[in-house]
Amino acid sequence: MSGINNIVILTGAGVSAESGIDTFRDAGGLWEQHRVEDVATPEAFARDPDLVLRFYDMRRAAIQTKRPNAAHEALARLDAAWPGELLIVTQNVDDLHERAGAKRLIHIHGEHLNAWCTACDARSRWTGTLIERPACPACGAAGMLRPDVVWFGEMPYRMDEIYAALNRADLFVSIGTSGAVYPAAGFVREARQSGARTLELNMEPSQGSHWFDAARHGSAGALVPAWVDEVLGQ
Ligand code: NAD
Repeated sequence: MSGINNIVILTGAGVSAESGIDTFRDAGGLWEQHRVEDVATPEAFARDPDLVLRFYDMRRAAIQTKRPNAAHEALARLDAAWPGELLIVTQNVDDLHERAGAKRLIHIHGEHLNAWCTACDARSRWTGTLIERPACPACGAAGMLRPDVVWFGEMPYRMDEIYAALNRADLFVSIGTSGAVYPAAGFVREARQSGARTLELNMEPSQGSHWFDAARHGSAGALVPAWVDEVLGQ
């Protein structure tokens, strides 16, 4: 693709929808069954830790039964083949990008398969449950592990690196996100200010659709492989 060296890709729940992982805001999505305030805030965890731990234990078990789809695979192919800078910033807490093979990846909202010890600050890979209050593998403290997921009201991860990449980007592409959750929803404006071209790939126009130079609407499993072929000139 001419004139393009640095690419930043933002992904959201829509990228994992065809793998069978619920999105948050679509009809029938995750938030329809649970109020955000009941499961995804620090206040909820303080008020009813069993409810929150059980919710995340269920999600952690569920994602391990899912598989990457054609969109994850195409992005991993682009990551492996693209000679310039590339960064995939995902809002997803599943591990489907990395299971497909993506390497240049930041989980801005944390990861389901990590437990975070609030005593020693260590992150440990965690595939089992937290409800029984297991000890931290790093420091041995009992009952101090929580899901390593950024809750509403908490600071997303690695923002300095992300803004630096956005400021260098020639192309910003947003895939499968409703554009409702900040700061990720503001990335398109940041990239535009730095002169990047901007493209949205989503099932429907997102809340921030008007900020993009171009948009394609349809399923990520169809749109992303076709777009990656274009970028790689195949
Ligand atoms: P969202 O649910 O708000 O938006 C999903 C968007 O994807 C919608 O605009 C929808 O039209 C689109 N979409 C649905 N199916 C699609 C498909 N097959 N192809 C292309 N687009 C499709 O999710 P969001 O924007 O990611 O933001 C909400 C928050 O939800 C994020 O913080 C994220 O961490 C969290 N989340 C993560 C997961 C996960 O890890 N897989 C799942 C649900 C929610």
